[in-house]
Amino acid sequence: MTSPTRTPDTTPADRDARPQVRPAAEGWEQQRTAEGRPLLQFASPRVKQPPQHLADLTLAERQAKLKELGHPAFRAKQLSTHYFQHWTTDPERMSDLPKAGREELVEAMFPPLLTEVRRLRTDDGNTIKFLWRLFDGALVESVLMRYPGRITLCVSSQAGCGMNCPFCATGQAGLTRNMSTAEIVDQVVAANRVIAAGDLGVTEHPDERVTNIVFMGMGEPLANYKRVMAAVHRFVDASPEGLGMSARNITVSTVGLVPAIRKLAEEDLPVTFALSLHAPDDELRDELIPVNNRWKVDEAIDAAYDYFRKTGRRVSIEYALIKDMNDHAWRAALLAKKLNQRGRGWVHVNPIPLNPTPGSIWTSSEPEVQDEFVETLRAAGIPTTLRDTRGKEIDGACGQLAAAE
Ligand code: SF4
Repeated sequence: MTSPTRTPDTTPADRDARPQVRPAAEGWEQQRTAEGRPLLQFASPRVKQPPQHLADLTLAERQAKLKELGHPAFRAKQLSTHYFQHWTTDPERMSDLPKAGREELVEAMFPPLLTEVRRLRTDDGNTIKFLWRLFDGALVESVLMRYPGRITLCVSSQAGCGMNCPFCATGQAGLTRNMSTAEIVDQVVAANRVIAAGDLGVTEHPDERVTNIVFMGMGEPLANYKRVMAAVHRFVDASPEGLGMSARNITVSTVGLVPAIRKLAEEDLPVTFALSLHAPDDELRDELIPVNNRWKVDEAIDAAYDYFRKTGRRVSIEYALIKDMNDHAWRAALLAKKLNQRGRGWVHVNPIPLNPTPGSIWTSSEPEVQDEFVETLRAAGIPTTLRDTRGKEIDGACGQLAAAE
């Protein structure tokens, strides 16, 4: 645990002469508490959960369930292989299972969870945004992106979101419910099917599949902690129990749920951790990311730093650059100062350029302002990379700026 010396966020002389645009929801009203604060919902409403699916269970639990259903426990491995290695839930393709009772068994273990509503392609077919309908009609999205040498899927973890950020369409309607572990996992398996069918750009080699997962779709992943963690286990568990992916290639992001960040650091899972900060001063961040009213900038950065100290994994700070709102050079300097106060070499900043949205307060910074922001961080010794905003043109870009339908 660290206790860096606190310094005042700024002095008036630090602030440059550029205007200060304040965050506000455009075209909708943020739900508020009786005290006038933006409403935060941490708990999922008590609504019906999707039927249990094989991917909700550990291998031991799958074996127990199969026994309960009157099947030998070794069927668990066979079914897991079909799902996690061959991406199939089609009984016709499961010729290693006895014909009698096969359909019933598949129905019991693989209830359909995601129905594809729409598929939008961009970047010459190298990016696909999927819109899925869940069993109760809730809509979520995932975005599949091919890069040279890797394929990334941005997944959703909640239907709706309770964090109520004023720039985010997902948060407008509040939290519908937490997604189940299997609903999260099934987004990856569905993406692997699409890749295997040769539907994502130009195939580089025949055994391609999703190599990287980012929890930056709909929802605040750490508000659905248990199910998200179980999903991460399915991603990294060795095949056929899970997908056998590398934990390092899985990025869990948060707007700053501090106790959950600390819990995550205690897990024995070296995932990549990203904090969506978007402002280094509480004055702005209280309005931009309402959860900041609960856990302040310094508390969130402390928790991120402790994640690094515990796991040895370098932390990412996500920072969407919004014109005249959070893109001032003094904010870059303040961010650098706060990060350097904790130590060196523990963090990487990813400024995210927004798309120009004429007439909106949520619009892109001027290129020279972006450059100045990046240079200020770099000059202070903070590794900084302007992030690729692939998928923006189909509203599929993430970094906590996801848009719902
Ligand atoms: S930006 Fe992220 S955390 Fe904020 S409301 Fe939207 S989905 Fe939730």
